[in-house]
Amino acid sequence: MIETTLPEPDHISELRRQLRRFVAEKAPRDKRRAWDEAHDWPRDLFGELAALGLCGLTIDEADGGLGQDIVAAVAVIEELSRAGPFLAGPYIHCAFYGGMNISENGSPDQKRRLLPALARGELMFAYGLSEPDVGGDLSSVKTRGRVEGDDLVINGAKRWCTGADWADYIYCLINTAPDAPRREALTFVLIPARAAGVSTSPIEHVNLRYTASCDVHFDDVRIPLDAVVGGPDRLNKAWSMLAGRALDVEKLEVAACTFGFAQAAVEEAWRYAQERVQFGKAIAGHQAVAHRLVTARTRLEACRHMLYHAARLADAGAPCGIETSMAKLFIADTGVEIALACQQVMGAYALSDAYDMDRNVRDLLGMPIVGGSSDMQRNNLAALWRLKA
Ligand SMILES: Cc1cc2nc3c(=O)[nH]c(=O)nc-3n(C[C@H](O)[C@H](O)[C@H](O)COP(=O)(O)OP(=O)(O)OC[C@H]3O[C@@H](n4cnc5c(N)ncnc54)[C@H](O)[C@@H]3O)c2cc1C
Repeated sequence: MIETTLPEPDHISELRRQLRRFVAEKAPRDKRRAWDEAHDWPRDLFGELAALGLCGLTIDEADGGLGQDIVAAVAVIEELSRAGPFLAGPYIHCAFYGGMNISENGSPDQKRRLLPALARGELMFAYGLSEPDVGGDLSSVKTRGRVEGDDLVINGAKRWCTGADWADYIYCLINTAPDAPRREALTFVLIPARAAGVSTSPIEHVNLRYTASCDVHFDDVRIPLDAVVGGPDRLNKAWSMLAGRALDVEKLEVAACTFGFAQAAVEEAWRYAQERVQFGKAIAGHQAVAHRLVTARTRLEACRHMLYHAARLADAGAPCGIETSMAKLFIADTGVEIALACQQVMGAYALSDAYDMDRNVRDLLGMPIVGGSSDMQRNNLAALWRLKA
């Protein structure tokens, strides 16, 4: 098993040991395969994880959490992702989409009502950003919120809203001022996923199959203005939240998943190459195979440094927009290179259901797209570095 090569505080080393035991014992390969086929995740196991307090790692102690510890939360995602997205995905819905966002952007009332339950792992959020006609260009969302007295009435459609069919709330980006400049028209709202007028239907997809992602329709969904994230005076002020610390940390959460998947791919190919014999010796003894593995492991190590450097900056409250964008970009793109190299090492067996490699390849190929594509990270970085024509 590949071990971390970075010095870490004792509590994170202990967390890793605990999670490795948990995953080895409770999420063996046959279960992972079954969850992947069923687009499902294990509620009972998640409950056991939550009982360890891990969902509170993005939430201050005063709000019912363990105290924000971004490095530890990233390590949790890394360790869980080594066994696929089946526990890491739900952890992100709770601790990051929920705990991180409400800690950063919630009103005092929302923090009081939501954070203790999020810290206990009892509330789940889904992210409603993408729409049928909106991917990277988030400021063009068309889902409309109309103010009527003390309420907002919401109409429109979200696409790829993962978890909308089981989450408690959809953390949803909507347009509340169609005549204003786009960046002054956006609002984040918390829509109860089972409110009257909300309907969901699943989308078939090959990656991140801990659940089916969803199309969501809002037909005259009525929510109080208090459901505006940050409170009613944050109406039309979501742009700063989209560009703020919660989003920086979100890039890390996607990067941590990618790093975990890539680590599992390298470990499986590494093991396989020492067991599979061709031309009278283990294929690891053929130089082309050894070189592929050594290059993949070296790239993996570079990913580790990018990820934890950015996570430590985020933890310290230092500006980290550049480092988190670089980490998301580099780890997602490098994850694809690692996936393809490891797939080659395992030959036909990388394409069979006898190993985890086919799933890790499927998951890794999607990571430069989800959570802000690699192209969008390059755009961010060019802007942050003021690169001009
Ligand atoms: C399994 C899965 C789960 C998902 N879960 C969620 C979720 O829970 N919530 C949610 O809101 N979304 C979710 N998404 C959507 C995901 O975040 C989007 O796919 C992503 O934002 C990219 O949008 P798009 O695919 O529509 O690409 P587009 O924005 O249409 O872009 C297509 C291509 O053009 C490139 N491109 C576009 N504009 C530019 C530009 N200005 N400069 C350079 N290149 C550009 C992109 O990089 C990409 O390669 C999920 C997607 C998948 C596959």
